[in-house]
Amino acid sequence: MSAWNAAWRERALPELAAREWDLIVIGGGISGAGILREAARRGWKCLLLEQRDFAWGTSSRSSKMVHGGLRYIAKGQFGLTRDSVRERQRLLAEAPGLVDPLSFIMAHYRGAFPGPKVFGGVLALYDALAGKRNHLFHSLQQLRYLAPGLKEDGLLGGTRFFDAVTDDARLVMRVLGEARGEGGEALNGIEVVELLREEGRVVGLLGEDRESGQRLRFRARAVAQATGAWAGRFRQDDDVRIRPLRGSHLLLPAWRLPVAHAFSFLHDQDRRPVFVFPWEGATVVGTTDLDHAESLDREARISADEADYLLAACAQQFPGARIAAADVLSTWAGVRPVVCAAGSTLKPSDEKREHLLWVEPGCVTLAGGKLTTFRLLALEVLRACAGFVGRELDDRGAAVFRPQPAQPMPALSPAQQRRLAG
Ligand SMILES: Cc1cc2nc3c(=O)[nH]c(=O)nc-3n(C[C@H](O)[C@H](O)[C@H](O)COP(=O)(O)OP(=O)(O)OC[C@H]3O[C@@H](n4cnc5c(N)ncnc54)[C@H](O)[C@@H]3O)c2cc1C
Repeated sequence: MSAWNAAWRERALPELAAREWDLIVIGGGISGAGILREAARRGWKCLLLEQRDFAWGTSSRSSKMVHGGLRYIAKGQFGLTRDSVRERQRLLAEAPGLVDPLSFIMAHYRGAFPGPKVFGGVLALYDALAGKRNHLFHSLQQLRYLAPGLKEDGLLGGTRFFDAVTDDARLVMRVLGEARGEGGEALNGIEVVELLREEGRVVGLLGEDRESGQRLRFRARAVAQATGAWAGRFRQDDDVRIRPLRGSHLLLPAWRLPVAHAFSFLHDQDRRPVFVFPWEGATVVGTTDLDHAESLDREARISADEADYLLAACAQQFPGARIAAADVLSTWAGVRPVVCAAGSTLKPSDEKREHLLWVEPGCVTLAGGKLTTFRLLALEVLRACAGFVGRELDDRGAAVFRPQPAQPMPALSPAQQRRLAG
């Protein structure tokens, strides 16, 4: 594999623009990286173009969970939950140190939803979909030991279950690395400004190098748009629209709110689920869910109201910690490309998180989806592109991540070695 740096980029750019590609992927988030990876494994000549830096979009601003999404069960989206928990199990097995188990606790309070029985029932279904029993009820005494600092008033006990957590930006970089290892190419700093059409078919695109301002034409048999919240940019559909919804997070120093587990609870203000979880040596509180009206070309950021909402969540669940705005180390906000019917009047949290593909001759556009299910989405996109490329698409369920050669590093602790391998 050649070096992948600025010098390589400058040298390779004209040559890459001159090639005839089977597939060009627009967007260097997890969806684009997954599509490139699955195409490269099949020997497709494929190139990915990202306007900013890889994972610049939502794929570095998510809640970092690799999960089935318990709330999808509540909405009756069993297929989405089943696919997600199976992908979670696959990623845990393939990428230890990058995708790791995370213990969750749902505390139960007298007279409050969800009670232990209802929640245990939902988790039994969740576990059945994953094919693995993964939850346990803890008495009040055990819970106080596991989770000191929880609101005590009416506390009955808690249910512990497992999902998984990752670093979303690192996940994107590893998937891109795997794609490059099998012949895929990826360039950042190239903004696609136009799709090129001939006789009603997309045959390539016009890209602008954000470093030099130079415009380059790229030709491909198929173009896959994996541009997340930007999916509507090159096409308009009368029946559906992309509803950009923003979710924001607070990052707190771990010593101010030390948690050994992720806590999931319903916010008193609107009964939306909120998480408090340990991540990279700090504590994360998230998320909000509201319409994002600002330009997508500016980095999304938390509003003062959202920060207050998340601080209120801390006060609700961990009153003794007295977390205040001055404790916040940093924040991040991501924009979810939620697909909805034109003119939808649903509350943001009630929109279904399904994804959608638009297919036109020579071009497939993906909108929506999840970090967790990137492999399945990639296969769906490639299936839709295969006819344009003149290929068949088989899926033998091959691993996304090739096994790493074992490199004993005795100077590092087992935890450091695991992380490095990840
Ligand atoms: C707040 C929040 C929390 C979330 N938490 C989770 C979670 O815990 N677990 C989970 O599984 N999922 C989660 N999700 C969903 C998940 O993060 C997204 O579905 C996923 O990251 C979307 O990836 P993507 O590659 O489709 O889009 P993005 O990551 O946004 O990537 C699209 C890329 O396209 C590029 N692009 C756009 N236009 C152009 C152009 N013209 N030319 C070149 N490049 C272009 C952008 O710069 C961007 O990098 C969350 C989402 C949000 C908003």
